[in-house]
Amino acid sequence: MAKYKIAVIKGDGIGPEIVDEAIKVLDALASVCDFDFSYKELLMGGNAYDITGDPLPQETIDGCLEADAVLFGSIGGEQWDTLPRDKRPESGLLRLRAALDLYANYRPVKVYDELIDASTLKREVIEGVDLLVMRELTGGIYFGQPRERTEEKAFNTMVYTKDEVKRIAKEAFESAMRRDKRVCSVDKANVLEVSQFWRNIVEEVAQEYPEVTLTHMYVDNAAMQLVRNPKQFDVILTSNIFGDILSDEASMLSGSIGLLPSASVGGKVGLYEPIHGSAPDIAGQGIANPIATISSASMMLRFALGEEKAADKIDQAIEQVLREGYRSKDIADFGAKEVCSTTELGSYIAEYVSKSS
Ligand code: NAD
Repeated sequence: MAKYKIAVIKGDGIGPEIVDEAIKVLDALASVCDFDFSYKELLMGGNAYDITGDPLPQETIDGCLEADAVLFGSIGGEQWDTLPRDKRPESGLLRLRAALDLYANYRPVKVYDELIDASTLKREVIEGVDLLVMRELTGGIYFGQPRERTEEKAFNTMVYTKDEVKRIAKEAFESAMRRDKRVCSVDKANVLEVSQFWRNIVEEVAQEYPEVTLTHMYVDNAAMQLVRNPKQFDVILTSNIFGDILSDEASMLSGSIGLLPSASVGGKVGLYEPIHGSAPDIAGQGIANPIATISSASMMLRFALGEEKAADKIDQAIEQVLREGYRSKDIADFGAKEVCSTTELGSYIAEYVSKSS
């Protein structure tokens, strides 16, 4: 019987609450499938800093590299915001992405039929939205050197190499081949050299995928089009900072940031995490929505472990729970038969998974 090694990073804020629910669901899955999981808990973020003085201890990098996949909650919180940048929780996550070479960030945006009214946009705008934001994750302005801040001025550097653009573009075109065969590359080529460079290379890569239709869009327009007519998009290919912003915007199409998963891949081991942060405003109250993290565990089964059917079981259980009216507080106003705590919602999903044939 296969036993998959999962590195578990619960992190800060609501991280531990939501990751516990994802593990509950994975264990329920193991009870009805012919594989099992072993978990190794690792530290990252503010909690890691408090215990070890480093937001990303070497032991965590090593533990991730030994695993089949990494399941991650979220990091961050005000109490660590005044630390020097390299000690802050976010720097731990950036370093981990770089250490694992996770250059491709998949952020699928799905609108659950039952939650259409949870979106702030009109039903006809979002009904049937199915898009993927493909964000470059280990380059661009978040990593570029030099960077500096003095009393008088500050700057960062937005830099991409040919290889960096090529590999993320390939990832986007490959994904488009499995979807509706459309890639929209988002940049700011009218102003930025680095964006014009990005655009040229994306066009080169497109030659290898004649079946895929490539379009380009400036990021300011894309931000507007995402709320005007999101159905026009299939795969949105974009850089680190633009993808960060656009994918949060796109998340609101679904009604709550607590619903959407992500997968970061590229190197030997992938990392699977909800797109939201550590939500310090609701941490410890037992009201966080665990669906984004449970759905990330489903992406982990699909991408890292090749367990497609098992991933389907999780996706179907989430849909069934929503169909039957179980809601966490963030989506309570939309068709709730019962408003559940984090653990209750996780338990319902786990129960449906364990009843699946
Ligand atoms: P956030 O995503 O943590 O929260 C934004 C809003 O969404 C809050 O009102 C929060 O309560 C709500 N929310 C988030 N997840 C939810 C869930 N599962 N269920 C219900 N409601 C949910 O963003 P923020 O407030 O800007 O950042 C808080 C901290 O998280 C910061 O320290 C930030 O740096 C960090 N952060 C971490 C990650 C990560 O770990 N990958 C990503 C983004 C932000």
